[in-house]
Amino acid sequence: MALERRFKEAFALCPVCGGELAEKRVEKLLRGGTDTAHLEIDALVCRRCGERFYPEETVRRFEKIRGKLSREETDDLTLVGSSYEAPGD
Ligand SMILES: [Zn+2]
Repeated sequence: MALERRFKEAFALCPVCGGELAEKRVEKLLRGGTDTAHLEIDALVCRRCGERFYPEETVRRFEKIRGKLSREETDDLTLVGSSYEAPGD
């Protein structure tokens, strides 16, 4: 889903560094409990500092997915690969 015009217009420049923003397809990793979900989504990305800005609907969607992960309601998610914890120092 492409970004809405009113969202793009609300962010003329990066609120963090004042850099130029570009609409980009980005990868997002969401965590809920011990599970993670990966999705590709449109965001405004700062060309200078790399900060990402998501519309409110997208943020709500992230929250919904995180909630589902925590409750292990994964029926509408597709299982791809496994995740492992590697030993630290
Ligand atoms: Zn920036």
